[in-house]
Amino acid sequence: MLARIRSAAVLGIDAYLVDVEADITRGLPSFATVGLPQGAIKEGRERVGAAIVNSGFEFPLKRITINLAPADVRKDGSAFDLPIALGILAATGQLRHGLPDEPMVVTEPATAGRADGDGVSSLQRSDAPMSSGSDSSRYPLYDDYLVVGELGLEGDVRPVRGALPIAARARAVGLRGVIVPVHNLPEAGVVDGIEILGARNLLDVAAFFGGDAPLARSRVDPSTLFGGARHDDVDFAEVRGQEHAKRALEVAAAGAHNVIMIGPPGSGKTMLARRLPTILPEMTLEEALETTKIHSVAGLLPPGQSLVADRPFRAPHHTVSDAGLIGGGSYPRPGEVSIAHGGVLFLDELPEFRKNVLEVLRQPLEDGLVTISRAATTLCYPARFTLAAAMNPCPCGYFGDPGRACTCEPLGVERYLARISGPLMDRIDIHIDVPAVPYKELSCGRSGEPSEVIRVRVNAARRRQLERFAGRAGIYANAHMRPRDLSKFCRVSDQAEALLKTAIAKLKLSARAYHRILKIARTIADLAGEGRILPPHVSEAVQYRSLDRPLG
Ligand SMILES: [Zn+2]
Repeated sequence: MLARIRSAAVLGIDAYLVDVEADITRGLPSFATVGLPQGAIKEGRERVGAAIVNSGFEFPLKRITINLAPADVRKDGSAFDLPIALGILAATGQLRHGLPDEPMVVTEPATAGRADGDGVSSLQRSDAPMSSGSDSSRYPLYDDYLVVGELGLEGDVRPVRGALPIAARARAVGLRGVIVPVHNLPEAGVVDGIEILGARNLLDVAAFFGGDAPLARSRVDPSTLFGGARHDDVDFAEVRGQEHAKRALEVAAAGAHNVIMIGPPGSGKTMLARRLPTILPEMTLEEALETTKIHSVAGLLPPGQSLVADRPFRAPHHTVSDAGLIGGGSYPRPGEVSIAHGGVLFLDELPEFRKNVLEVLRQPLEDGLVTISRAATTLCYPARFTLAAAMNPCPCGYFGDPGRACTCEPLGVERYLARISGPLMDRIDIHIDVPAVPYKELSCGRSGEPSEVIRVRVNAARRRQLERFAGRAGIYANAHMRPRDLSKFCRVSDQAEALLKTAIAKLKLSARAYHRILKIARTIADLAGEGRILPPHVSEAVQYRSLDRPLG
C-alpha cells in the first residue's frame, strides 16, 4: 500500500517541498530509503522503527520502501523522521484517516518542486478524495499539512533547523497548515495565513490525523515583537572616555561604514565594538524576518524566541575556518558573516586571521551575500553586515603609545600591517585610533551618552540617505556609493573643496582615500543635517583615515 506525507527541506535560507512516499508490500522484511538520502536520513530508519513500536503502533514486517521526491536533490538532516513514520502508519492503515481502501492520491512521481506552481497543482489534485469521501471532512487530511520533525526512540518529536522557512514555504504553496516540533512553534508562528501546529510526539500527530485530538497552535504577530523596547544587554553609557572613538562609531553607524580600530591591548576596542549594534538604525520587519530565517536555518534561535529583533553581534575567533566564517560544510550551514546579517561582524586581532580566511570576506563585503558551490547545487546566504575590525598597532601592541615603549623592530611593524590585504582594507572606510585611556578618565564618575540618544541621531541621518538614494537599487547608505556616484551626491562647498585639496597634498592621499573621505564627510554632514559638505565635515573625515598616513 502506498501513502504520501508532505514534508520539506531547506536549501540556503529557503525551503522546498519534499514528498515522503511510503510503499509497503509483501516480501522479506526490509526498510529502504531512496531519493538521494544522506547520512542522517539513513540512520533515521532506526529511530523511526523504535519510535513506531514505542508509541504503541505496529511496525510492519514487510518490504518497506520510502521515496523522497523530487529524487534528484540530495537530502540530509533528521527532519524527515516524523513524515517517514507517519507514511508507514498511513500505508499500514494505522492512521485512522487515509485508510488503505481509500483512493490514494499518488498518481505521478515527484510532484514537489521548488517552483510554487508545482506545489499548488499537486495540492488541488490531492483535494479530490477529501470532497468525495463522505466522512473524510471530519478528519484533517494529511495531504493538507506539511510535516517535519526528528524522532527520539521513545517517539518524542525533537526540534529541527529551518522551521521558519519551512512554514513560509507551506504557506507559499497554499497548504492548510504545517506541523513542526513544538519547540519550533515560536519561530514558525511568525508565518501568518496558515495553521501552525506543534507536535510533542508521534502519538500526538497520529491522533490529530485520526481526528481524535487537536495539536498545540501558535500564531505570533511579529509586529507585537517589534518596535518595543530593545533587549540590548550593553550600552554606550557604560563606556567612559574614548569620546573620539565613540563619535567615529556613530559616524560609521549613520553611514553603514565598515571600521577598523587600532589601539593597544586593554584600550577598550572590544567593549566599543560590542556596543556598535546598539546604535545602528532600527531593523525593519523585513530585515528582522530575513535575519530570523538565517538563525532558524543555523539552528541558533533560543528556545521560545520568535524573531531576531535586535541586530546581531558576532565575534568569531581568529582561528575560524573559512567554512565557519562564510558558511558551507558537508551539510551546509550559514557562516558567521550570514549570522551577523543585519548586525555587526567583529574581527578582533585582524592580522591574526589566516589570509585565505580574510580573502573570502571580499564577496559578502562587496555584494551583501555569499554563494557556496557544492557538488550539484549552488547555495546563497544573505550576508550584509557592518564589519568592525580591531588590531594592535604592532605585534607587541605599544607602537606609538606615550606610556610604554614598543619593543618591535621597525620592519616588524610594517610586516604586521601588511598582513591585511589591500582589497580588504579598501572596503574599510573608517580608521579609529583607540589609545589607552588615562586612569583619570576611567575613574571619573561621569558616564557616557546612552545608546538610545546616539541612535536618534543615527536614525535621522539614515533617513536623509534613504531619501537621497530613493530609486537607486543597491544603495541604502553613503557607504554603498560607487566612485561615479560621488560627484552627484556629495556636493562640496568651495572652502571644503580647498581644504580637501590641501589635505590630499599634505598627506599624500591616493584617489581611493579621497573617495573615502568624501563619503565619510557626506555622512558627517548628514548627522549635522547639512545638504552640502562644509569644511568641518571634511576635517573630521580626514581624521578617520589614519592608516593612509605614512608610519611616523
Ligand atoms: Zn610593538
